[in-house]
Amino acid sequence: MGILVVGSFALDSVQTPFDKIEDALGGSATYISLAASYFSGPIKVVGVIGDDFPKSYIEMLNNHNIDLEGLEIIPGGKTFRWSGKYHYDLNVRDTLLTELNVFEKFDPKIPENARKSKFVCLGNIDPVLQSKVLEQMENPQFIVCDTMNFWIEGKKAELLELLPKVNVLIINDSEARLLAKEPNLIKAAKKIRDLGPPILIIKKGEHGALLFTEDIIFSAPAFPMENIFDPTGAGDSFAGGFIGYLFKTRDLSPDNLKRAVIYGSTMASFCVEKFSTKGIEELSYLQIQDRFRQFMNLSRFDEE
Ligand code: AMP
Repeated sequence: MGILVVGSFALDSVQTPFDKIEDALGGSATYISLAASYFSGPIKVVGVIGDDFPKSYIEMLNNHNIDLEGLEIIPGGKTFRWSGKYHYDLNVRDTLLTELNVFEKFDPKIPENARKSKFVCLGNIDPVLQSKVLEQMENPQFIVCDTMNFWIEGKKAELLELLPKVNVLIINDSEARLLAKEPNLIKAAKKIRDLGPPILIIKKGEHGALLFTEDIIFSAPAFPMENIFDPTGAGDSFAGGFIGYLFKTRDLSPDNLKRAVIYGSTMASFCVEKFSTKGIEELSYLQIQDRFRQFMNLSRFDEE
């Protein structure tokens, strides 16, 4: 049984200081499954699209051994659309549009052969839908969950109901502050772990990521990049690399969680080098390992 990924499939319109793109492939499930596909396959996905979703996107996902049996296509429906604008400081993003479209009436149905998946990644969608997915799973053992300010503000009660059921929550720093109502990230992390998830990852954009468990705090560096083109999907690519590596190694020890955070950061670093999903469409495992090693060397130092 492979990894089950649930999340959005989107047509994104993105503006950065360098360029802009319309109706590009996006969505949390898209980035997560593509990033995870380099570590283990097939990745099973559950989501919904309209019949306006380009066939070429479907083919590209199929070519990555992504099993789309659980992807519902609504005849005459309009695919979820999201639009964002990045500032000169690429850590700052304005959401210009969130059109739920086919997501508004989406009732996720997990295909029979995916219900036994042991590893589940709940990509960023309505926490009500994330919970509906978990209700259909037979005996999931490792559940990773992502969310964002849109849901923290709009569906807080539903999110709080979900959190005790997940093993890992991945959010960014501003979302952590919003969820915990606490500006200090270390204090916020304590508060969020008290809400349920034993493992918490706080992403800090181009400043790396923090991993919190009962016993450890691990600070992962960010890759020093000269060419950041489009940060969209970096968080989801991180989640895909993280769960993909853990599934591949089947080892949830603290040291392996740290490695998984670095593999997550590695996938995020490839993602931001190109627009949309282009940066994670044509990688080889060797390239991924090579960048992983560069990450290791970044913050390795010796005692005198
Ligand atoms: P990230 O940059 O990792 O936060 O993810 C960006 C992706 O999330 C884009 O491709 C969007 O299509 C998708 N997205 C943005 N807002 C939402 C939302 N409210 N629900 C589900 N997916 C979303």
